Amino acid sequence: MRIVLVQGDVTAEAVDAVVNAANSSLLGGGGVDGAIHRNGGPEILAACRKLRASHYGKGLPTGRAVATTAGRLPARHVIHTVGPVWSRDEDRSELLASCYRESLRVADELGARTVAFPAVSTGIYGWPMADGARIAVGTVRAARTEVEEVRFVLFDETAYRAFAEAV
Ligand code: ADP
Repeated sequence: MRIVLVQGDVTAEAVDAVVNAANSSLLGGGGVDGAIHRNGGPEILAACRKLRASHYGKGLPTGRAVATTAGRLPARHVIHTVGPVWSRDEDRSELLASCYRESLRVADELGARTVAFPAVSTGIYGWPMADGARIAVGTVRAARTEVEEVRFVLFDETAYRAFAEAV
């Protein structure tokens, strides 16, 4: 698998699947989530509401992933995953790793070969960037998947540097 680092906006990526750092409600939020719904249009939210009604009445659990249409985004699918909130008292690394693994598993189900990830949990959820980058790169590298290219799309230079270091 090829790992590519990009500095920019993950919603602009013309990949098979773009990953959303969602919250468990699946009904939108700030950061990446806000950008995905803003740029992808109302079709994505409609699909999320349907998923809530059909499968996830209590919301999508942390560490899990689920796919919807990408609406007007250049990507074909959005894979929504719910990262853990950073905790000083509890090691939630396995949940963060699970986001990347589960997203790739869903990508395989979709037949996606190119997937773009943001740095899950490192924004509103407060995960330290260097540690988030290490978990992201390590988990993706170790994953058994048919995905051929993973693009980590980092919003700013600090995030980009952290991922470059991790790679
Ligand atoms: P979380 O709630 O999982 O922390 P956020 O969306 O708040 O998710 O942030 C995750 C990371 O994505 C942060 O490093 C943030 O700076 C970055 N980010 C925010 N918007 C975008 C975007 N449009 N494209 C790529 N990365 C983004």
